[in-house]
Amino acid sequence: MKVLLIYTVTENVNIPVLPLGLGCIAAAVESKGHEFSLFNATDDPESLKALKERIREFRPQVMGLCARNVDNQDRTNPLFLIEPVKEITAACKEASAAPVVIGGAGFTMFPDEILAYSGGDLGIAGQGEESFCELLDCMEQEAQPDGIPGLVAPDKPFDGRLAAVRNLDAWPLPLPEKHIIAPEHWDLKSVMVPIQSRRGCALDCSYCSTKNIEGRILHKRSPETAAENVRQFMDKGFRCFFIADNTFNLPPSYARALCKALEERAPGAKWQGIIYPNMLDDDLAQAMARAGCKAVSLGFEHGDEDMLRAFNKKFGLEKVREVSKRLKAHGIGQGGFLLLGGPGETKESVKKAFAFMESLELDAVRITQGIRIYPKTAVYEQAVAKGVIKRDQNILHPAFYVEPGLEDWLQNAVAEFQASHPDWVFL
Ligand code: SF4
Repeated sequence: MKVLLIYTVTENVNIPVLPLGLGCIAAAVESKGHEFSLFNATDDPESLKALKERIREFRPQVMGLCARNVDNQDRTNPLFLIEPVKEITAACKEASAAPVVIGGAGFTMFPDEILAYSGGDLGIAGQGEESFCELLDCMEQEAQPDGIPGLVAPDKPFDGRLAAVRNLDAWPLPLPEKHIIAPEHWDLKSVMVPIQSRRGCALDCSYCSTKNIEGRILHKRSPETAAENVRQFMDKGFRCFFIADNTFNLPPSYARALCKALEERAPGAKWQGIIYPNMLDDDLAQAMARAGCKAVSLGFEHGDEDMLRAFNKKFGLEKVREVSKRLKAHGIGQGGFLLLGGPGETKESVKKAFAFMESLELDAVRITQGIRIYPKTAVYEQAVAKGVIKRDQNILHPAFYVEPGLEDWLQNAVAEFQASHPDWVFL
């Protein structure tokens, strides 16, 4: 089958991120003997025109469109990122009768809603490698695509069964300039290459949608394969990487093995990752530094013990402090994040969060006001119970939880806090 894979570029509203998920699909499709072509699209008229030209030249039998983000998760300046998906889908349909299949992390959170909104023909909710290839086989054999996990159609709503990949090592990782290409206007020196060695998260933070995208079982690639992928990108001149695993340090045994593999197979790589501030001892911090870790996102999200419990975090503030000091001792920079306004938030807890932030030696800080409400999360249920949303409300257009009564106060408090730290880097 001839497959055109289209990436919806929306990351110019945030840090540039190469399309890892679509790259994995490209590598998977190729490994099954299909022909593919890649296109990075925006909703700019010139980009849509170029897309239609590519479609007419390549004559795809299937078009796969990645919807990675639903919105920018910013209550104060919301951007709805499915609008470009709709426009790109319309351009695809104008240029070809081939079916448009939508997938990606954003799609997986709202499969029925996004399929209806964008006008796509089919969708795959979950990790697409196996299910998308199975769908291509059905199309090739003109068979009914029945029973494919995650497959969604306008007359076949999502049945709750996510497309999954049980053995990550059975699928090839994407190669630079072959399965992943950077959008033309991006400065490659500032682009971080995402590398994913694990999918899923066994934890269950109250606001998080990861379990509904990747599942709660942690699936791991061999550390050597992941490190080898870093080296392949280094061979093409890339030097900066983002290890996009949900919690780099969990489990610690795997994290140590990955550090060892990176040190041996990709010396000179500089990378960042996300740390769950627990279970990170001195040996692991040292191994990370030796393997090229320059900075981490320290995922504590709050500075009040009650709010950490409300978020279902499995650590306390002392543990965050301990991990932060340990990372600093090994020269690893840290970004800290506050997620304010969630269920149970009070003026007092916000003040404690600010004081905790001030007590850490962070290199950058991000403060988010209000929690984006995602389906099938504890925050969703709390939002329904408090009347913030209705149970049958379509929350594809972003809806946020802010503890009732705190809305205006919180905005002013955050502005004052930021103004009182003119030398801090706020992301
Ligand atoms: S640790 Fe991270 S990925 Fe896992 S549930 Fe919590 S927020 Fe989500």
